[in-house]
Formats: sequence, structure tokens, C-alpha cells
Amino acid sequence: MIFVNDITCPLCGSSVPQRRFFARSNKPFCARCGWNLDRAEAALNDTKTMLKLITLAVAGVGLFAAFAAVRAHELWTLSLPAIFLLIAMIPLWNYISARRAIAVAKSTVIPDLARTNTPVLPSVQLLLSLPRPRRVRVALTGTLGIIVLLSVVILLCLFLMVPFTWHDSPIDSKNSPLIPILFITFVVSVMVVPAIFREKRNWSLFRDGDVALARVLAQSRAQQGRTTYSKIDFEFRANSGQLVRNSQKDLSEMVFEEMTIPVFYDPLDPSKNTALCASYLKIAETF
Ligand SMILES: [Zn+2]
Repeated sequence: MIFVNDITCPLCGSSVPQRRFFARSNKPFCARCGWNLDRAEAALNDTKTMLKLITLAVAGVGLFAAFAAVRAHELWTLSLPAIFLLIAMIPLWNYISARRAIAVAKSTVIPDLARTNTPVLPSVQLLLSLPRPRRVRVALTGTLGIIVLLSVVILLCLFLMVPFTWHDSPIDSKNSPLIPILFITFVVSVMVVPAIFREKRNWSLFRDGDVALARVLAQSRAQQGRTTYSKIDFEFRANSGQLVRNSQKDLSEMVFEEMTIPVFYDPLDPSKNTALCASYLKIAETF
């Protein structure tokens, strides 16, 4: 299934399925050694109140619709609330299946399989051994890739329209395709310019900075406007011995508690640091 992505259990190395679409707030856990099981259960319990409200709302709308349909002798009108009901049932179904999976895992996990000293992944080992300056590249994957691709396609279509409409719609006309072009350019620049400034700083950290393996202390979903993103808190020890903490947006959405992630920092000021997963940039050799 395309909405499932496997991550590696940081304690025993088994593959852990991670649901990415409907159940993003569910924390993945390892059914073999029990990694993250308690946190997954706590996160699920947090959704209980919201779930009760949804169930109440759905029941209310359903009852009202049924009453109205019976009064009006128009039973076909029930099909619309029925569809609504089915959609609203998705979180409930997700909750029940996650709870069952956690209960099953609780009785079958073997905690002895968990190791506290987790092996470093080969790609991370390579990263640690790379000579400076490292070769930094922009990774056009995920959301960034989709945004860039869509903008290019839309702009291309609009520019192709210009010669066909030019003669009967001068620039000040309402029909001029130049107006949407300017609008899209404006929107894209508002979204892209701050990211470019952020990535400019990351670029020099990734190229010349020191690299450390940071331990992920916490992961949660943070609200940003109408969407949410994965926020990670991590901690690493700089070469100077200083213990540094930071909180960043995990663009990979595949980082969770107790995992070890590469972080690049300025050796003169380790408070200037960025996790690799918090950037659209990647190191060329470790793509
Ligand atoms: Zn495990």
C-alpha cells in the first residue's frame, strides 16, 4: 500500500510499518521488541476525547437527518448523511484497529531483543567519514518536488497561452494570462524565499560543519495553519563536550523517539545546528 512506509526499529533493527495518510498522528511501534509501545498507547489515548466528540456529532446529525427524512416521507435523502457517516467513521475505525494492534503487541513483545547501543546505519557511517567540503545537493522529493513540478507545469501552460490570446487581450485586459502568471509567481516566491534563506545557512553547515549523531528525545505533531507537521526534539554532544538540544521540523516524517539522526553544527557555536531530516538539502554521496 502506498500509504505505508517502513521505518527501522532503533532498538532491534526490525522493519516497522508506518501508516502515513489517515493515521499520521499514530505513533509507530515495534511489535517485536516493544519500542515506542507505551508512547503509541499514550498518543492514542490522547485522541479519545476528540473521538467521543466526533461520535456524538455523527450520531446527532444522523438522528436529525433520519427524523427529517421520515417526516418528509423522502427516505432517499438519508443517503447523504449515510455517506457522511461512513467518512466520519474512518477515525473511529483507525482508533479501534490501532488499539487492537497495541493490545496484541503488548502480549507478544520480547523486551530482551531491544539493545540500547543501536548499530549505526551504513549510510550514516558513510556520512560521518566524508571529507570536507561535502557535496551538498537539493533533493527535489516529497512536498517540495510536487510544488516545484506543479509550478513549472502551470507556468509553462500559461506562457504557452500568451501568444494565442495576446492579439485580442492586451496586458490591461481581464483576460490576460499575465495576471495569473504574476499571481502564481508572487505566491511561489512568498513560499519559497524564506525556505531559500533557511537552506542557505544549512548549505554551509552541511558542507563544512561538524557532524554529530543526535538522539531523538520526543516527536509530536504540531499545528501549522490548517495542516500539521512532525516536530522532533533532539540532543547531541558537540566535539567541545557541550550538550546541545534543538527542536525542528522533520521533513522526512520518519523520525521518532530513541532514533539516532545526523546533525550538522557550527563547531564554534553548536547552537547553530540542523538535522539532515529538517532540510531539503542532502549530501550527494548518501542519497
Ligand atoms: Zn524493535
